[in-house]
Amino acid sequence: MKQLRIQCVDCGKPVIVSAFRPCFYCGRNYSQQEVDSLFAQNKGEVVDVEELLSARGPLAVEPVQPRSPPWRNFIYVAAALFFLIFCAVCILLILKLK
Ligand SMILES: [Zn+2]
Repeated sequence: MKQLRIQCVDCGKPVIVSAFRPCFYCGRNYSQQEVDSLFAQNKGEVVDVEELLSARGPLAVEPVQPRSPPWRNFIYVAAALFFLIFCAVCILLILKLK
């Protein structure tokens, strides 16, 4: 369904109209022929309201990614610390055995 952003013919306000959407301000009804002729005269800009309101619209935010549980980071940190301590103990043992 074609929807146009125009200056209303009657009240002059900027509105989005279509064959099923009268002027928001003055209620003037636009027929499909009128919408088509306004578009043909380049007096309006086609807008896709459904797309603006849908998830594909430019204002939509990204869907929230499921975050990894916090204990997973803790396990990585603990494993890294354990590895560092293991290395230190190995170096000390090697130095003592010399
Ligand atoms: Zn109007």
